[in-house]
Amino acid sequence: MAVRPLRYDGDLVLLQVAPPIESFDEDLSTLVLDMFETMYAAPGRGLAAPQVGVSRRVFVVDTDWKEGEPAPMVFINPEIVAQSSELVSGEEGCLSIPDKTFEVARPAWLELVWQDMDGAQLRGRFEGVQAVCICHELDHLDGKMINQTGTLI
Ligand SMILES: [Zn+2]
Repeated sequence: MAVRPLRYDGDLVLLQVAPPIESFDEDLSTLVLDMFETMYAAPGRGLAAPQVGVSRRVFVVDTDWKEGEPAPMVFINPEIVAQSSELVSGEEGCLSIPDKTFEVARPAWLELVWQDMDGAQLRGRFEGVQAVCICHELDHLDGKMINQTGTLI
């Protein structure tokens, strides 16, 4: 495992729509392990592949580790299939925009389908900070940054 260099706002890879993961192979395992190590070292609660310069649809999230036990989750080729019409505004930071905080409106809950490291299809419902993190990281896969979708505070 290795910490990979972060890409920052202004890097074109962060503005690209990332293509899907097609090979569930050793390269993917290495990428995901490196992404976790990079996220924990940063330190952050989520990291998308474009943030380490890899334009592919994969992100990692751990909303719990800063306060308690680590709960690492990996989402490959994620897609929102349902979400609340109610939006909740909250403060978000981004490892690619250091030392700045933005107010961003996100759905209160969402239902997601995604694939795991073996390519198996999964489905789940997320709310609260997990829903916020998932939306934030999913935006990265679509080339969207919180300085575009949110308001600097
Ligand atoms: Zn971010």
